[in-house]
Amino acid sequence: MLVINSIERGIVIDHITAGLGARILNYLDIDTSKYTIAFIMNAESATRGRKDVIKIKDVVDLNLTDLGLIDPHATVNIIEDHKVAKKIKLEIPEKVVNIIRCKNPRCVTSVEKAAPHIFHLIDPETMEYRCEYCDDIVSMKGDWQHDIMRKEWLRTKSCE
Ligand SMILES: [Zn+2]
Repeated sequence: MLVINSIERGIVIDHITAGLGARILNYLDIDTSKYTIAFIMNAESATRGRKDVIKIKDVVDLNLTDLGLIDPHATVNIIEDHKVAKKIKLEIPEKVVNIIRCKNPRCVTSVEKAAPHIFHLIDPETMEYRCEYCDDIVSMKGDWQHDIMRKEWLRTKSCE
């Protein structure tokens, strides 16, 4: 077993479905020049076979609610003074704003660049979401990475 030193303060995202850790890391868009990050792929898990683990030192205030969209099985531990101060069980979000991009060219979000992309969960089993404006349906199962908005894209959008 690979041992990574415990952190005094920070975030540990544990029990990530093996293979999804890179997507979570990419989604979090953390400045890797500033923070210490440990990314463990395919660690042995007592309960679920293989898992990915991400540890981020000195960061405790990330918005993690939407992480459930990527992997609802992951757990988030907030570490203070080497102890778990808070444990967050991720869930599939009911409503997501500016995470999934609507690709329907006739959708108002394709025309109105300032319009937020809002999706509502319609089926937690298939992880299907419906666009608030045009009712287009997107499944977040399978290869959906291109549907996740990039943080850079959001930054550009807010500057327009
Ligand atoms: Zn739409």
